Amino acid sequence: MKLGDIGEFGFIDRIAPVGMVRPEGVIKGIGDDCAVMSLSGPEYLLVTTDLLVESVHFILDWAPAEIIGAKALTVNLSDIAACGGVPRDAFISIAIPPHIDLDWLDGLYRGLSDAARASSVNVLGGDTTRSKGHLVINVAVTGLVRPQEVLFRHTAAAGDIVVLTGPTGRSGAGCDLLLRGERRDDSSARSLIAAHLEPRAHLREARILAESGAATAAIDVSDGLSSDLAHLCKDSGLGAILREESIPVSPDLVRAGMELGKDPLDWVLHGGEDYVLLAAVKPEELTLIMETAARKGCTFFPIGEFVAGAGIELIRADGTRLPITPRGWDHFR
Ligand code: ADP
Ligand code: MG
Repeated sequence: MKLGDIGEFGFIDRIAPVGMVRPEGVIKGIGDDCAVMSLSGPEYLLVTTDLLVESVHFILDWAPAEIIGAKALTVNLSDIAACGGVPRDAFISIAIPPHIDLDWLDGLYRGLSDAARASSVNVLGGDTTRSKGHLVINVAVTGLVRPQEVLFRHTAAAGDIVVLTGPTGRSGAGCDLLLRGERRDDSSARSLIAAHLEPRAHLREARILAESGAATAAIDVSDGLSSDLAHLCKDSGLGAILREESIPVSPDLVRAGMELGKDPLDWVLHGGEDYVLLAAVKPEELTLIMETAARKGCTFFPIGEFVAGAGIELIRADGTRLPITPRGWDHFR
């Protein structure tokens, strides 16, 4: 059997059982956005780590070093947000190939530390080595969350509302514009490209969801809406129905779709790296949490509901039902 046959997530399922030798204090190990641990304090400790590889996760020519540094931290903050937590400390490891110079590295760390400061995150350690090939950046971040507020992937219930804390697809469209060498300077293209290069972790939205008690589960949208919803559904033992007319599609996306000959819904459902949150919200709490979010300057989008069973269906504007196969990002497929 090859890695391509089982994919990234088949591989993770395969290695998950070997990790646990001392279960005391482990609330959640492999399989969620963060590991969740109960230590001596009143709050749970969250730990997450993400690895970025040059030419796989980022292209050096696409952005200044500062932007790559900020994104390396942000993708980790997003996993802390997915668990409802508040980030605390970061650890940065980097393997540096000969084509990277000191000025560039200074820029990377400026971007990283500015992003860390903006979220009150300390950088407390890391590791530095030489690389013979690509630049590799690994960031690990810790966070804290009250036990009653932690958001897992496996705890959604049938009848809960599928809620997005922001639109999806913009980053995927921005990435496609960059891949096709688009350097048009209109504000629409610029804003899609910015969504790809300079995502924001939804930490504020996470706290609204976690504090309210209205959310039963959450994940961040890093692989794409279809894939991340499928993770949440699988872990909760549920299916989901999405309503096309409720899913936000920004005018920028429609314009990019016309230019690149692509259905914007493709980006919305399957484009990755949005770093918005996808939450399950108790139906009776929906109105209140939408109002709370709006009062705090955030917009939540109810786009469907979780149902008993398995699989994801999209109800199109004309009433037809379309099964959605997850085909967001998988490193090996
Ligand atoms: P995310 O997209 O939220 O960062 P991933 O899909 O990367 O999450 O990972 C899913 C789960 O698998 C997480 O719990 C993560 O810690 C774990 N995981 C991923 N790769 C490995 C690995 N090589 N060894 C152990 N655990 C891993
Ligand atoms: Mg995640």
